[in-house]
Amino acid sequence: MKSEELFKEAKNYLPGGVDSPVRAYKPYPFFAKEAKGSKIIDVDGNSYIDYCLAYGPLVLGHANEKIMGKVVEQLKIGSAYGVPTENEIELAKLVIKKVPCAEMVRFVNSGTEATMSAIRLARAATSKKKIIKFEGSYHGAHDYVLVKSGSGAAGLPDSPGVPEDTTKNTVLIPFNNKEAVVDLIEREGDDIAAIIVEPIMGNVGFIPPKEDYLKFLREITGQNNIILIFDEVITGFRIAEGGAQEYFGVTPDLVTFGKILGGGFPIGALAGKKEFMEMIAPAGTVYQAGTFNGNPVSITAGLAMLNQLNDNFYAESERKGKLIRTGIQDILSDNNLDFKIAGLSSMFQLYFTDKEVYDYASAKSADTEKFNHYFQTLLKNGVFIPPSQFECCFISSMHDKEDIQKTLEA
Ligand code: PLP
Repeated sequence: MKSEELFKEAKNYLPGGVDSPVRAYKPYPFFAKEAKGSKIIDVDGNSYIDYCLAYGPLVLGHANEKIMGKVVEQLKIGSAYGVPTENEIELAKLVIKKVPCAEMVRFVNSGTEATMSAIRLARAATSKKKIIKFEGSYHGAHDYVLVKSGSGAAGLPDSPGVPEDTTKNTVLIPFNNKEAVVDLIEREGDDIAAIIVEPIMGNVGFIPPKEDYLKFLREITGQNNIILIFDEVITGFRIAEGGAQEYFGVTPDLVTFGKILGGGFPIGALAGKKEFMEMIAPAGTVYQAGTFNGNPVSITAGLAMLNQLNDNFYAESERKGKLIRTGIQDILSDNNLDFKIAGLSSMFQLYFTDKEVYDYASAKSADTEKFNHYFQTLLKNGVFIPPSQFECCFISSMHDKEDIQKTLEA
């Protein structure tokens, strides 16, 4: 079936038809047939270059050979769900080696589960109830986090029907504002269990922390028996080997991971200081369990992923990311498209496995005209542009500037 028909069909069976950034694609979402490296081919035979790889789990591209090889091997020898494998210890060791605050790791199935567990752990560790979070942050799909998260700003509704005590125990304050934190702690510090923060606010346009903001959060939480949780579901293993905590030089008590960690397979993790992590069952009394926790396929994929994220990867991705970012920005302004690429350049460490894209991006410095021409062709023939907000812009089959502008504004 073609994408148009599939979308009509999907709407009968799946809420909204599709649940993916592709939902923003006009005039209807496309359905993938296959994907390799930075390319996606849809069921209609169109080929796309995936500029969303930098934001999602697949920083090594689709169907990375090493990850797929290990996964297939694991499937062949059996995937004994519910029974631990040596690889789980190996992956934990690797996370601990890379991430400054990690002394122990609990693998779960998603970023949502990881943040939910981190919050529960913080409450248990401090015997306090309130959680501070920041306007516009997103920590997962469960009520206990989404409530009052301000994620409305990221285009998501707050959940109805959340119990009153949950609402009461969630305090929302503006990001990058020290005074708001000081005031709140002065008033309610005895009741605050944790501050949970995305070190770079990912879902409202990649807003970096002000110069010493994370350090300030570290100090004030330490002085007031408040647990500092970094939600590194987006930044983890992406902006540096040790994530935002390495990049900004600030070590939290607990950290949550998702996305990149599983190399494209579902996984999440909660890591942190031993004194807290050992409170998790069965070592301790904080219940955290899941049928698929530590499943061998995701664990194997995670190992194959993290083993490839070495110094060379970060250096290369930064170099290529800067090149392509400048190129995209130039072309947008050359065409009077008022669309700013937000945030730190390091968030745009787009790692192109696709040689063609890289060659053209490199040519930019030597031959602007060639790059412009190439990028125009991309704009006309189907390109993803890095996200301005939560949604990514998918641009295809457009033949003039106005069309492009409309899509960017939509
Ligand atoms: N935290 C952050 C910062 C996220 O961006 C996300 C997902 O986008 C989550 C948590 C939730 O992770 P998951 O979708 O794996 O449940």
